[in-house]
Amino acid sequence: MSQELMIFPWQHAVWAGLIAQRKTLPHAMLLRGPAGIGKLQFAQALSKALLCQQPQADGHACGVCASCGWFAQGSHPDFRLLAPEQDQADEDAPAPAKPTTKKTQISVAQVRELGGFLELSSHHNDGVRIALICPAEGLNVASANALLKMLEEPPPGVVFLLVAHQPQRLLPTITSRCRKVDMPVPDMQGALSWLNGQGVDQAEVRLAYAGGSPMAARDQAEGSKPLELILAQLARGAGADAYSLATMLNALGMAEAMRVLQKWLYDLLACRFAVQARYHILHNAALQALAKSVDLAQMLELQRKLDDAYRSATHPLNNELQLESLMLQYVQLFSAKTRT
Ligand SMILES: [Zn+2]
Repeated sequence: MSQELMIFPWQHAVWAGLIAQRKTLPHAMLLRGPAGIGKLQFAQALSKALLCQQPQADGHACGVCASCGWFAQGSHPDFRLLAPEQDQADEDAPAPAKPTTKKTQISVAQVRELGGFLELSSHHNDGVRIALICPAEGLNVASANALLKMLEEPPPGVVFLLVAHQPQRLLPTITSRCRKVDMPVPDMQGALSWLNGQGVDQAEVRLAYAGGSPMAARDQAEGSKPLELILAQLARGAGADAYSLATMLNALGMAEAMRVLQKWLYDLLACRFAVQARYHILHNAALQALAKSVDLAQMLELQRKLDDAYRSATHPLNNELQLESLMLQYVQLFSAKTRT
């Protein structure tokens, strides 16, 4: 039942260090490290363990007590997760009738609600209450300042766990009130053996595409069909179908579409300068061939337009039109006659 709250092999040492201080943990900790290395899952496992009424010898939650049951159901009265609110309806809507507004900020209203929760006394387990905030860089100035007040005068028994992929974006006043915990990044071998253990096929290819992040590689394996079709089209260069590319990319959402295109252009550029593709090892040969005929100036121009398109992303219908225009430009990168 608690399968999804296992920590990752590369996190054992950090885990042991924190659990050893379980009774004297600071009231605020900042778990920091690059995206996709399992920080949130670690923070959730730690929360569950700190709330557990009869933790195991290695400090993990027992998985059977009342507290663990509540946690598993997402209804623990002494636990709060603050994350940017997402519009689930939009995420799954097949028809592009509504703008996709994936929120990236944690609002001041959310932090105030947390304040209300912290004023209550805890239900169980020596008064421990946990507020998990992820990603902490989702706090805007107003919500960060609201949180700061709580960090300055933390109610007894409360543990704040802040998870940050980009800790440099946090207010220094917030950072200075937290103990910094550097979350380990798995090495290539560790990541590959974990992916293999998860039954992910082509683990090496996917890990490269995900820039070394095992979680991203796994997620990509789960939803890889559309991506593979897109990459196969991009690999056709001048022969690619710009319109079907635009449709497929739009279905990914603008943020993901831009990531896919940026990575592709990055590798195209790398191959242009006689280096190997970094992300697309399966398409290396195609990229090398395309790089020979690519118009460099036009390609850099296209990269700039991708950034603009992302910033101005609004309505899915507009996004598709914009993607069509971008993909028509992509196809033309390879159609000029001579290169120097
Ligand atoms: Zn338990």
